[in-house]
Amino acid sequence: MTSRYRCTACGNLTRFDVVATRRTRAFWHYTVGGELSVEEEQVLDAVVESVVCRWCSASGAAIEEVPLPGPEG
Ligand SMILES: [Zn+2]
Repeated sequence: MTSRYRCTACGNLTRFDVVATRRTRAFWHYTVGGELSVEEEQVLDAVVESVVCRWCSASGAAIEEVPLPGPEG
């Protein structure tokens, strides 16, 4: 993650509904009873299709992507 979202309509920085297509690889671990737990999930590819502000329902151009400072600061 090198960026975050910001809603320019209401200033929300923390709550969004995101629709994304993700291609992942994971370790699927079944118990003998058939209960599944998914572990070690690795995201190989992710495409964000839409981001909607959870507070004011703004979307599209109202949501801007803000770069996060890198590890260097
Ligand atoms: Zn908003």
